[in-house]
Amino acid sequence: TTFIGGSIAGLGDIYGQVQKAIGSSERVLEILEEEPEAAESSEAAPKINGKIVFDKVSFRYPTRPEVEVLKGIDFKINPGEKVALAGHSGAGKSTIIQLLLKFYEVGKGDILIDDLSVRKREARQLRSQIGIVPQEVLLFGGSIRENILYARPGASEQEIIEAAKKANAWQFINNFPEGLDTMVGERGIKLSGGQRQRIAIARAILKDPAILVLDEATSSLDAESEYLVQEALDELMKDRTTIVIAHRLATIRKVDRIFVIKEGEIIEEGNHETLALQKDGYYANLVRLQFADDALRPLN
Ligand code: ADP
Ligand code: MG
Repeated sequence: TTFIGGSIAGLGDIYGQVQKAIGSSERVLEILEEEPEAAESSEAAPKINGKIVFDKVSFRYPTRPEVEVLKGIDFKINPGEKVALAGHSGAGKSTIIQLLLKFYEVGKGDILIDDLSVRKREARQLRSQIGIVPQEVLLFGGSIRENILYARPGASEQEIIEAAKKANAWQFINNFPEGLDTMVGERGIKLSGGQRQRIAIARAILKDPAILVLDEATSSLDAESEYLVQEALDELMKDRTTIVIAHRLATIRKVDRIFVIKEGEIIEEGNHETLALQKDGYYANLVRLQFADDALRPLN
């Protein structure tokens, strides 16, 4: 189901939900979007530049210590740089994001954000600096206004409208008789996948984080929605350090660098053109398999 109840769970419940989500790590990103307290503390947090360093990070899930899920992941992302994580399911992409968000403690190595270790950063503050657009956008039962505002409860009407415009959401919102007060959720209007994504993007624009995590949807939208979402994402990504778990060729082509992950290691790194041209490359093969529907033209 696409909606959660109107009463937003407290932080304790959130961690309970995260625990329940073990085994399906994708769920964590969705749940995180619903963590109101992280959102509320964003105004108090000092701004960061968004430099991210993974310094030889190794990791095992506490519930499964026999498997080393990440093995010496090492990279540096400059403020404003856009990177994609690519790799088959189970490679470790979501785990990298979960460690960045401090859902688990790093094993060996360290993660630095603006040169300060995540070990020394408070989880809630850290998360308030990171915007997330999850694969499947959940809206809570309430108005569109509440759903956008929740990223930054103090925002003015003008700021909400501005964010909605930048997210290519204003036109459809404004077309509803009730506008921003249109109710969504079980007792409200049913929005399309593309509309929900654009509301999530408006929310993220309003939050204005230095770091952005995009977990792209695997299911495709209709062509018009696709275009509007892509354009909104471009606006959102502007001037923000962005990590994309990419499922769309259109996105992966645009990023500065791609980290190709296989069994917890970065095995290839480069931009799409360079990697796709390596005829026997892992990435080149991955693109043929994973982005097959998307790749209408030959790669080289
Ligand atoms: P990807 O996002 O690339 O599909 P994940 O990071 O989700 O990969 O998973 C990497 C590995 O860690 C997989 O073997 C997966 O089964 C395992 N894993 C993921 N989440 C958990 C968890 N909460 N507990 C134990 N193992 C997990
Ligand atoms: Mg994943």
